[in-house]
Amino acid sequence: MRISRDKTIFIMDKNNEPVLRAKSGDEVIFETCDCFSDVIKTNEDLVSGIDFNRVNPATGPLYIEGAEVGDVLKVKIKEIKVNSQGATVTAPGLGRLSDKITGEETAICPIEGDYAIYKGLKIPLNKMIGVIGTAPAGEGVPTGVPHDHGGNMDCKMIKEGASLYLPVNVEGALLAIGDLHAAMGDGEIMGAGLEIAGEVTVEVEVLKDFNYKLPLIETEDKWMTLASRETMEEASDLAINNMVDLIVKKTDLNLHQAGMLLSLVGDLRVCQIVDPNMTMRMELKKEYLK
Ligand code: CA
Ligand code: CA
Repeated sequence: MRISRDKTIFIMDKNNEPVLRAKSGDEVIFETCDCFSDVIKTNEDLVSGIDFNRVNPATGPLYIEGAEVGDVLKVKIKEIKVNSQGATVTAPGLGRLSDKITGEETAICPIEGDYAIYKGLKIPLNKMIGVIGTAPAGEGVPTGVPHDHGGNMDCKMIKEGASLYLPVNVEGALLAIGDLHAAMGDGEIMGAGLEIAGEVTVEVEVLKDFNYKLPLIETEDKWMTLASRETMEEASDLAINNMVDLIVKKTDLNLHQAGMLLSLVGDLRVCQIVDPNMTMRMELKKEYLK
């Protein structure tokens, strides 16, 4: 099952028409455009030349049969393939160097094996999904905005081998995926990772009795709560509270004790601080939940 990259949306919305239907347990390939809708191809193509109505396209939505409001959608990321080159950019008003950025620049980075080449430097690939989410219950949310439904979370832990747990807010969940990065550091400080087109293979599964706060990432050795809010402080508090909730449910520790555990071994990290909401994550090794 495959969704081609011409099936894109720019708003995650319950009224979007599904482009494919899958069953729980199915594997689906999402072909994705880069966040500029694939128009930046050379170092001469600048951000000011792009159509801002067509940024952050997400491929989909996928309707998952049997997904009902209140269920949880587990999205296991089986493979991320990226194209032969990516682009990173800077422009005034983009990212965290603010008024120090006086001009525009694009850096096309070829992919060579497990590396991207930036200004002669070999950057190890850490392929990740920038935009992934389900339709929210109420008003639609533009694909550039992260919130409780997922969206533009730009979290580098949403990578091959990880599972992302998302809320089912509407029947069928309406999953959409886009904005791959071949590499990105925590923070995404200039507002762009190594933006790249590609394709993602996921396995979708509907969970009926999964009562943890979302969005949530599971890797081989860690659980991570994700939270997106207007400020880093609000996002941090939500990610922390959601992880405390998970610890209390999974262990014999009470809230105070769960908090102390996080003080000792939990890592609060930045996903991104450049999108319309900031995204933080709280990480905890699974060994502490036994
Ligand atoms: Ca993004
Ligand atoms: Ca991006």
